[in-house]
Amino acid sequence: MKRTWTLLLLSLAAACGSRPKSLPRIAIAGLGIESSTFSPALTDEAAFHAQYDTAVFGIYPFMAKDSPLRGRAVWIPAIVGHSLPGGAVTRAAYESLLNKMLDSLNAHLPYDGLFFDIHGAMSVVGLDDPEGDMIKRIRKVVGPHTLISTSMDLHGNVSETLAENTDLITDYRLAPHEDAMETKQRAVEDLLERLESGKGKPRYKAWIPIPVLLPGEKTSTRIEPAKSVFKAVKPTLAQEGIIDGGIWVGYPWADEPRNHAVVMVTGDDSAKVSHAAETLANGFWSARSGYAFVAPTASWDQALDSALASHKHPYFISDMGDNPTAGGAGDVTWTLNKLLARPEFKKANGPTLIYASIPGPDLVEQAISAGVGGHVDGYAGAKVDGRYSPPAHIAGTVESIVYGDKDAEVETSVRVGSLHVIVTKKRKPYHREIDFTRLGLNPRKADIVVVKIGYLEPELYAMKADWMMALTPGGVDQDIEHLTYNRIRRPMFPFDKNMPEPDLHARFVPASDTFSQP
Ligand SMILES: [Zn+2]
Repeated sequence: MKRTWTLLLLSLAAACGSRPKSLPRIAIAGLGIESSTFSPALTDEAAFHAQYDTAVFGIYPFMAKDSPLRGRAVWIPAIVGHSLPGGAVTRAAYESLLNKMLDSLNAHLPYDGLFFDIHGAMSVVGLDDPEGDMIKRIRKVVGPHTLISTSMDLHGNVSETLAENTDLITDYRLAPHEDAMETKQRAVEDLLERLESGKGKPRYKAWIPIPVLLPGEKTSTRIEPAKSVFKAVKPTLAQEGIIDGGIWVGYPWADEPRNHAVVMVTGDDSAKVSHAAETLANGFWSARSGYAFVAPTASWDQALDSALASHKHPYFISDMGDNPTAGGAGDVTWTLNKLLARPEFKKANGPTLIYASIPGPDLVEQAISAGVGGHVDGYAGAKVDGRYSPPAHIAGTVESIVYGDKDAEVETSVRVGSLHVIVTKKRKPYHREIDFTRLGLNPRKADIVVVKIGYLEPELYAMKADWMMALTPGGVDQDIEHLTYNRIRRPMFPFDKNMPEPDLHARFVPASDTFSQP
């Protein structure tokens, strides 16, 4: 009841046009994950590594204690948690984290602004559009007048509910996401600028759904056409009367009506806002037939045969179907079992191949007991996703044991013939050179490096002498035209080949406080 009165008074104050005379009060909140509903894995609360209160500042270098930005507002961080991609989030985990967020927001009311830091492709068991649900429930606490600025991954989905309840919105313009922190900072600066200038909510928010659903591996901004399509975002939006916006590719491994590409643009000039949004939407749509995998793609056997025949080393192979950074369980053994069966790698002097990685907590325990140089003989993987292949039998010598990684917790490298198999306590993506070197492995000297990943992250990309993407099975199967969708909107490219031209006119979505809009 007390809250209702507070909200009412705040709403009245805001409706009367009163503005904060001192520094604006800005809350920080958000939960981020991309989670596949085509994977049997489930994500729990601990996976979010949630940070509370002032610990949240540690996530953002631009919010360091002595940074200029930090001094421009009274910051009230509630909770920010980002999980590695995975399976759908359990309803209990989502409700628990969200209730902590809402309790914290409620305890420190009122707010002039809120920085909403999400990914946008969360799936929660039994709940559609979790980010839409989250922001609606945040709105119930903070009220319709608080200016919300949302920062997202371009692989997230922007539902109409999210578009209506946020005021400002932006997303990454690069995939791989080398501009992630810059994007979050821009979302915060957009928010500060609107609060400090007294301009407040944008007058217009254009939202355009685009009937295209593609995996990130086909829309990397390293290559055309996505390179030019996304490069156009900044200059198209750099106009007086436009605040920010972006192009969202969306997330293909969840079967919901909100999963498709979107363009959104915010600003105060209706003609410029709608024209910019339509330009970007048409740019993305017209390029649709050109989106292709970022590297040569082949079956597993073809990829491995090419790598073995090549003189270029290190030769990277992406084991794409179970990529944990897209939402795969990360413990599919299909590829590793095929490697362990290949005769070329049976002897120690065979071609050097690093396999990164497979979770196997029991085998890690064995490695710890045996110690470096000791022998292990056990099984790893296929505990979460055993649909394609049974647990891998690994018998070999422990080369190294490393403790303390945030995701893996314990990592060990086991030598089997000429294979170096990285076995972890928990799943972990291997993105950086140091992920290998800290285990005593030198990927630059290896003949072949197989990583459970889609497109190569920058350090591996720079290191590769050659690269092929293997179409392997798993929870994020890249062959999405063979997945069963029942609930996405149709027609949708690339599923409906001869679909009619869609309506790409800008739709203005209402502001969260429409009654006070001029
Ligand atoms: Zn992404």
